[in-house]
Amino acid sequence: MRSHSYFISQEATVELLARVSHLCAECYNDMAEGDIIHYDREHYRYVCKSCEEVLYTRRQEHEAKSEEEGAILF
Ligand SMILES: [Zn+2]
Repeated sequence: MRSHSYFISQEATVELLARVSHLCAECYNDMAEGDIIHYDREHYRYVCKSCEEVLYTRRQEHEAKSEEEGAILF
């Protein structure tokens, strides 16, 4: 498992899916019961596996870039 904490991975339950209308907050794909979905701690939403990977990579790149620039704004 990844040690970073951008996301909390968990199995989708009926109750959880009902709260998010069964949709990924990023790509609006359907999420099904039993899928591993990912809670985005930065934006307080749930995203699917493929979006989690994209967002994770993007944030890592962003962090690396911020460090190079001295992280003035973030
Ligand atoms: Zn998605």
